[in-house]
Amino acid sequence: MTPVWLLDLDNTLHDAMPVVFPRINRAMTAYVARELSLDEREAGALRAHYWQRYGATLLGLVRHHGIDPHHFLRETHPFPDLERIVRRDHRLADALRRLPGRRIVVTNSPLHYASRVVRALGIAARIDSIVSIEAMSFAGRWQPKPSRPMLRRLVARLRVPAARCVLVEDTPVNLAAARRVGLRTVLVTGISHRPFHPARRTRAGASKRIDVQVQSVAHLPRKALRSVTLPT
Ligand SMILES: [Mg+2]
Repeated sequence: MTPVWLLDLDNTLHDAMPVVFPRINRAMTAYVARELSLDEREAGALRAHYWQRYGATLLGLVRHHGIDPHHFLRETHPFPDLERIVRRDHRLADALRRLPGRRIVVTNSPLHYASRVVRALGIAARIDSIVSIEAMSFAGRWQPKPSRPMLRRLVARLRVPAARCVLVEDTPVNLAAARRVGLRTVLVTGISHRPFHPARRTRAGASKRIDVQVQSVAHLPRKALRSVTLPT
């Protein structure tokens, strides 16, 4: 059976650390300061609090301040020059082409940003669809990664067994959630080494969460394909 590849975007398909993430970070702090009439230090502290408690600034703003999430997502991804700053790995398109089965980008970022990054990376023809954070809002709540209900719902919509889906990610806590839902997991290590989310640290060891570890998605076909492809 061919797998369904669920590919994270930031720090999995491209390196967001040097330019993209710092800019989003600054934009989010500025947004919180502006919308809630806080100074920069207070805004930063509130963001840290919501990050600890909910795993994302957005979730705290929606829950406690009635912020329009679409407005927040639009204002905090200011990239008129995205095509210039995205770091393109020229091996990526070929590597994706060699992965059999559907390839779906699953990202906690907004669709307008994700689709532009995919185009800028030159991989749009290799991607079947994008599941952005807007598609992770259901049952009256925003439930981005690492939400297990969201992952279960995603798998159900794909109409395949969870064990046929492979989450490819740089964030271990998301892989841990995927593993508990029954997905296969690939950790991408080469771009960033972000710490575990402190509020959601799992006791499971790395070997229990991760089927395969690769430095780059460019290595996926060679290194991961055999071990995550089920026998027919
Ligand atoms: Mg990521």
